[in-house]
Amino acid sequence: MMQDSRSIVVLTGAGISAESGIATFRGPGGLWEGHRVEDVCTPEALAHDPELVHRFYDARRAALARVEPNAAHHALARLDAEWGGDLLIVTQNVDDLHERAGAKRLLHMHGELQSALCAACGAHMRWLGAMPPGSACPACGAAALRPDIVFFGEMPYAMDTIERALGTADLFVSIGTSGAVYPAAGFVQGARHAGARTLELNLERSAGSAFFHETRLGAAGSLVPHWVDAMLAG
Ligand SMILES: [Zn+2]
Repeated sequence: MMQDSRSIVVLTGAGISAESGIATFRGPGGLWEGHRVEDVCTPEALAHDPELVHRFYDARRAALARVEPNAAHHALARLDAEWGGDLLIVTQNVDDLHERAGAKRLLHMHGELQSALCAACGAHMRWLGAMPPGSACPACGAAALRPDIVFFGEMPYAMDTIERALGTADLFVSIGTSGAVYPAAGFVQGARHAGARTLELNLERSAGSAFFHETRLGAAGSLVPHWVDAMLAG
């Protein structure tokens, strides 16, 4: 049944990056310098305490140098390279681990740590080092660069493209997501409505598990390579 699927949409979340050692700042003890991330990653925090917000993202950007893609990232990159049908990997993660593993058919719906966004002209640009508040935009000159991250309360990127892909998907696979944060939490219902088979690969049952045809529990680093092997063998 899975082997007949030609058009696949994969959604990845914090769980897949956590297995590479990326801090998620969620759950018990999940504070960053005493702040809830929900209070740091907002347009209001950027307006009122830009130094704090930039320091948070500078630290996360720098931490990328200390992590590597894991077996799940590598398996998805192999699927990307070898799957002959349509594929879209949508990640909620802002790290670059999918790219470093080699994935190409990839969308960062919540932005990227290694990108800057100009709040004045809307330009996006690659950004690897620290980003002091008030950094000047190379495109328009405004001192308005901010992390290219979709904050709580902001509209995720590429929703049109994602909705289109969900509307024609034969298979929707969710990997390592809580199923609690919209709009991504609604992707499974959108895909099912359009007739897709739906599969969840997660460490534990999620808020969205009931919406999937099938849930497999375990580490992404073992579940994802097995699933990709089966897809490519079929
Ligand atoms: Zn600009």
